[in-house]
Amino acid sequence: MPDEVKKMEFRDLKQQYSVLRAEIDQAVSRVLSDADFISGRAVAELEGELAGYVSARHCISCANGTDALSLAMMAWGLGPDDAVFVPDFTFFSTAEVVAHAGATPVFVDVDEDTFNIDPEKLEAAIVETAAAGALAPRAVVAVDLFGLCADYAQIRPIAEKHGLLLLEDAAQGFGGSRGGRMACSFGDISTTSFFPAKPLGCYGDGGAVFTDDDGAAELLRSLRIHGKGGDKYDNVRIGLNSRLDTLQAAILKVKLKAFREAELAKVNEVAGYYSERLGGRVAVPRVPDGYISSWAQYTIRLAGAAQREAVMAHLKAQGIPSMVYYRKPLHRQGAFAALSVPDAGFERTIRLCDTVLSLPMHPYMTEEDVARVSGAVLEGLGGNG
Ligand SMILES: *Cc1c(COP(=O)(O)O)cnc(C)c1O
Repeated sequence: MPDEVKKMEFRDLKQQYSVLRAEIDQAVSRVLSDADFISGRAVAELEGELAGYVSARHCISCANGTDALSLAMMAWGLGPDDAVFVPDFTFFSTAEVVAHAGATPVFVDVDEDTFNIDPEKLEAAIVETAAAGALAPRAVVAVDLFGLCADYAQIRPIAEKHGLLLLEDAAQGFGGSRGGRMACSFGDISTTSFFPAKPLGCYGDGGAVFTDDDGAAELLRSLRIHGKGGDKYDNVRIGLNSRLDTLQAAILKVKLKAFREAELAKVNEVAGYYSERLGGRVAVPRVPDGYISSWAQYTIRLAGAAQREAVMAHLKAQGIPSMVYYRKPLHRQGAFAALSVPDAGFERTIRLCDTVLSLPMHPYMTEEDVARVSGAVLEGLGGNG
C-alpha cells in the first residue's frame, strides 16, 4: 500500500469515542467511585430507557445477544422434539441457541432483496415439518438482518395460524422500524446485542431481552440470575449467570442518547450517499416502503464470487476495509453436519453467500468518505460492472 493511502475504519469506534469522550469518561468514573459493578443503578435506568425507546413493557438486560436468545428459549421451555424455524442466512448464534436448548433448527431460505426470512418459504417449512411428524413446530426466530426489520406483517399471522411463538432476533436491528413501530417490539419475545460493532454497542459484551408478557418477564429476570426465586441464594429453576454489568450500562446510557439524537439519522444519510453513487451499477440494499433501517451493515451484491474478490482486493489496496457477511449458509455449517440438510431449497442464501459485500458504515462517515469507497467499488468492477 502506498504511504499516501489513508486507512479507513470499517466501523469507527475510535472516532465515536472521541466525540462522546467527556460524557463516557464521567459515566465510567461514577461507576468506579460507587463500586456498584453488578446490578448497579445504571442498569435499571438503562432498562427503563430501552423499554421506553422500543415501546416494550419490559426490558431485561443480560450478558450478550446470544444469551438473550437462550434466555428466551429457556423461558419458553423449548427442548428435544421441538422444531424452531430460523433463516439460513444469518449469524450462527440464531441457530446455535436452538441446538443448545436441545431443540432442532429448521432452516428457511431468505428474500434476496431484504436478506430476511421469506414468509412463504417459512410457511411451507412449517407445514412440511408438521407433516413429517418427527418434530413439533414450536417457534420462529425472525432476524432483522443488517438493520432491516423482517416482514412481520406476514410472519406474525403465519406464526399465529400455526400456533408458534415468535422470537425477534434484533441483534442487528436495534433502532430500525416498520410503520413507526420499533425493532425489538415485534416478537412475543425480542432480543438484541450490544456487541461493540452493533447499531448500539457497548465496550464489551452486552445484550437485552424485551417482552410485553409479564409472566415471561418474571421468568427471564429469574433465569438470568441462576434461576433465582426470592433472591440469588434461593434457586427455584436452572438458569444462567447472564447480567449486563454496571459499567456497560453506564456507557450504553450515553451511547443511547447519541444514537437517538444523531447517529441513527446519520447512518441513514450515509446509506443514502452510497445508494446514490452505487445504485444502477451494483445491487444496493432495498428498504421497503414504511421501513427505516438502522444500517448494522451496508451490503451490496456483486455479479459473482470472482467479481467480489476483485472488488475486495481493489478496496484493500486503497486502504478500504470490506467484509463478507456471510460466506456460508447455516445449513452448511460443520456444527450442523449431523442434520444433513441438502442444498435444495436454499438457492437464494447460497447465491447471497457468493455475492454479498459489506462496505464501511458508521455514523461518523462523511460524504467524502462514501465517495471514496463508492469510487473504489466502481473501479474494482473493472469492465464487468
Ligand atoms: C451478533 C448477533 C447475535 C449474537 O450477539 P452477541 O452479543 O455477539 O452474542 C445474534 N444474532 C445475530 C443476528 C447477530 O448478528
